[in-house]
Amino acid sequence: MLLQNKQVAIVGGGPGGLTLARLLQINGAAVNVYERDLNPEVRVQGATLDLHNDSGLAALRHAQLLDEFKACYRPGADRLRLVNQHAAIAYDQHEEQQTATFGDPWFRPEIDRGPLRTLLLDSLQPNTVVWDRRLAALTPLGEGWQLAFENGTTATADLVIGADGANSSIRQLVTPIQPFYAGVTVVEGTVYHAARNAPRMHALTQGGKVFAMGNSHTLITSAKGDGSLCFYTGCRTPEFWVKNSGIDFTDAAQVLTWFQQEFAGWDEMWQELFTNKATRFVPRPQYCMPLDQNWEAQANITLLGDAAHLMPPYAGEGVNMAMLDALELSQNLANEHFPDVRTAIRHYEARMRERASLVAQETLTQTEALHSPRALAHLLALFGVA
Ligand SMILES: Cc1cc2nc3c(=O)[nH]c(=O)nc-3n(C[C@H](O)[C@H](O)[C@H](O)COP(=O)(O)OP(=O)(O)OC[C@H]3O[C@@H](n4cnc5c(N)ncnc54)[C@H](O)[C@@H]3O)c2cc1C
Repeated sequence: MLLQNKQVAIVGGGPGGLTLARLLQINGAAVNVYERDLNPEVRVQGATLDLHNDSGLAALRHAQLLDEFKACYRPGADRLRLVNQHAAIAYDQHEEQQTATFGDPWFRPEIDRGPLRTLLLDSLQPNTVVWDRRLAALTPLGEGWQLAFENGTTATADLVIGADGANSSIRQLVTPIQPFYAGVTVVEGTVYHAARNAPRMHALTQGGKVFAMGNSHTLITSAKGDGSLCFYTGCRTPEFWVKNSGIDFTDAAQVLTWFQQEFAGWDEMWQELFTNKATRFVPRPQYCMPLDQNWEAQANITLLGDAAHLMPPYAGEGVNMAMLDALELSQNLANEHFPDVRTAIRHYEARMRERASLVAQETLTQTEALHSPRALAHLLALFGVA
């Protein structure tokens, strides 16, 4: 076992990092996950996630967690409505009979991010995750690393895995390659108690997902199990629009004014998403790692998930890729045929980069098409409806 007598530190307790921790523990490795969130009760924000048979679900199968997943996924939450800016329905999966189930290549069950995190956390040995550990510095120590956290604590590890997401600070220790701006900025928000606070949107979403397209803009809304609606707009903007627009995104009134101007001509019902004072808006310019990135493997550090191959969300692959990275990295690190950890990492990284490049290409194509005047027709054709 390549990891015998080695201490592994995974930085970041997102789906990628936690899946890897579980898979490594099954293989007998000594692992800690260092996560910046204060504790496991911190509410996990963001859209629901559909897991794919050959990636996210494959990782859960190998992690022996498929039954746990079946107990907390949300049947029907994958049902999609495609609409235009007037909320006229062009395609409705609620009207289709769904026969796909686990094992079918096109079955893509949805799970909220909170329950996914809980299910992975519950599978780990006690005290695997160390909370309130925002990595501040990573410095070489012998053949391994010293991790220093913002709260003044430190830890050591023989092998560090950067699973610290889109703004990874570990990435720079693996590669100098920088992500490039993908041309679209997302404004994300959540309306809690949607049946009361956004009744028309709640009814339109019907427990599933709504993709709205018009004027080269997108507005994607998904219903979550706690009764909230998570949504995100997508608009073509210059790279530094968030700063240069002068909009204070903590001020809901300013965001509503922006939305009314930018989405002028859209049905008034969309404004339900923006009128709730409790909504916290998060603007996210979308970046993508270059498709041809390459680097020399190291013996004591690697990356997975968004830290390795950040891309926009328009192919719905991010979490699936992060979990597949975790699966393949764990398999390579458990492979007795490799002479050392560096070789195992080299094999993992080569395949991971190749896979990510193909998906990033697809994602960029979708990002472009969905923010064009032909967006709805494009998506209808993809679903075989046009
Ligand atoms: C608006 C939006 C919608 C999306 N929709 C989808 C979708 O429908 N389907 C899909 O597959 N993907 C989707 N994605 C992408 C998906 O969220 C990511 O690809 C996925 O979460 C990546 O998983 P990860 O584990 O690599 O990183 P993350 O989920 O980002 O997890 C990183 C973890 O690291 C922690 N962390 C960060 N920095 C530090 C630090 N310095 N120290 C310690 N801990 C740290 C964070 O708190 C977090 O827990 C979407 C993304 C966005 C922005």
